[in-house]
Amino acid sequence: MEDRTRGLEDLFVVEKLSKSFPVWAGALFRPSGHVSAVDDVSFEIKKGETLGLVGESGCGKTTLASMLLRMLEPTSGSIRFDGEELVGMQQSKLRRARLAAQMIFQDPYSSLSPRLTALEVVEEPLLINRRGSREEIRRKAMGLLEMVGLTEMDAGCLPGQFSGGQRQRIGIARALALEPKFIVCDEPVSSLDVSVHAHIINLLMDLQAKLGLTYLFIAHNLALVRHVSDRVAVMYLGKLVEIGPSEVIFEDPRHPYTKALMAAVPGFDPKKRKAKALLGGEVPSPLNPPTGCRFHPRCRFAMPVCSEREPVMTEDGKGRSVWCHLEGKR
Ligand code: SF4
Repeated sequence: MEDRTRGLEDLFVVEKLSKSFPVWAGALFRPSGHVSAVDDVSFEIKKGETLGLVGESGCGKTTLASMLLRMLEPTSGSIRFDGEELVGMQQSKLRRARLAAQMIFQDPYSSLSPRLTALEVVEEPLLINRRGSREEIRRKAMGLLEMVGLTEMDAGCLPGQFSGGQRQRIGIARALALEPKFIVCDEPVSSLDVSVHAHIINLLMDLQAKLGLTYLFIAHNLALVRHVSDRVAVMYLGKLVEIGPSEVIFEDPRHPYTKALMAAVPGFDPKKRKAKALLGGEVPSPLNPPTGCRFHPRCRFAMPVCSEREPVMTEDGKGRSVWCHLEGKR
């Protein structure tokens, strides 16, 4: 099980990235605390790879992706994109950098204007960013629609006249319009009929190969994440707990939380499936996260040190890193 991404250059280098939100309370609406949505997270995304990002709802996946796209300002930490630091970057420069990173949304219907035709939806970012004459923009938008499998006849239809899968194709064409290097695919098929999942996933993979795109792929469907991802990052309550090559993580998960998550994937070795039972209890409140390792109240292997001290990320020399006190004992 080798790491296919070894030797690839970094597109993103994220270091000690954190985001917390104030919590407002009382009649005077005063700040009463902070929610730590992402806490001290470091990782890289390689050029041309798909990094899968998994974890339960509310673990910080969307907050992390929003910071990479610079839709959210980090509380602290560093995000280097293609060699340039994005945190603290001048607004005019940041606007340009933002265009190189786009997003494909979960619900293509709500992300498309109902009054614009498919062609106009794709033309819009090109017009706003003045990417050519009216004629050039029209030709480019039409080319993008064809690239995602739509026809000239489709170009004049409104989003409401398309199926969910076709609307997602329009969303993908729009995301490609400004020739991005990086795309966040946020649950790109979860709102679609199962019969079109494979078509959209194959389209995304074909486009990646053709255009050299880098993806951050967020999904709850772990079998799908395994299928599309070169590497996988696992988050729990704002922390990155394990990251490494997809096959390594799915075949031999090391962090107790990753083991519990992977045990739920269809096809997972039934002998290891008992690990599923290890994930008891509720996810603790991010308003008052547990001390030490945030997973300790739910972890069967918890030791006294786990509630006292945070683990450190330990790399195994084969591209996999794990955030757990057990790693030092192997
Ligand atoms: Fe479990 Fe301790 Fe590892 Fe956390 S650090 S996952 S509590 S063994």
